[in-house]
Amino acid sequence: MIYDVCIIGSGAGAGPIAYTLAKEGKKVLILEKGDIYSEKDFSKDEIAYARRDIFTPNLKDEYHVIEEKFDDGKWYKFPTYETGWSFWNGNFLGGSSNFMSGYFHRLKPNDFKLKSTYGKYANSNVEDWPITY
Ligand SMILES: Cc1cc2nc3c(=O)[nH]c(=O)nc-3n(C[C@H](O)[C@H](O)[C@H](O)COP(=O)(O)OP(=O)(O)OC[C@H]3O[C@@H](n4cnc5c(N)ncnc54)[C@H](O)[C@@H]3O)c2cc1C
Repeated sequence: MIYDVCIIGSGAGAGPIAYTLAKEGKKVLILEKGDIYSEKDFSKDEIAYARRDIFTPNLKDEYHVIEEKFDDGKWYKFPTYETGWSFWNGNFLGGSSNFMSGYFHRLKPNDFKLKSTYGKYANSNVEDWPITY
């Protein structure tokens, strides 16, 4: 089968795009590395899902790097395999949105133009969005 689009991962970012493209008649292939679970596989256990690494990849294999600017003006990097901060994660069909608690931070107009409003931090990759509030 020939596909028009291939999307890696099936989370909240990919899902609406895949859905929109499929509705437009495109053949969309989603590659998801996690397993398929259904509602009966889960329990109401916030500690298990949010604080323990049940659905999180091994931090040595797939780590995040958090960078923070300290009082000395320098940026410091913290790879999660050193800090143990595993973050909330969900590696399975549907991604982390399966666990989402449902609170939404309200966006403001400036959130769409961070670079032009606040400037570009050294070594950052911040950009303005191509859409406005
Ligand atoms: C317990 C919990 C509660 C939350 N509550 C809230 C909330 O209340 N409000 C809020 O705004 N946010 C909340 N979040 C965060 C929110 O759910 C996530 O930010 C959002 O779902 C992330 O979407 P995403 O598409 O970027 O990534 P994900 O949903 O993580 O999707 C990424 C997908 O890609 C797959 N993938 C990764 N690498 C590969 C690869 N190499 N090949 C194939 N597939 C791959 C993963 O398995 C995963 O399915 C919560 C998260 C958790 C875990």
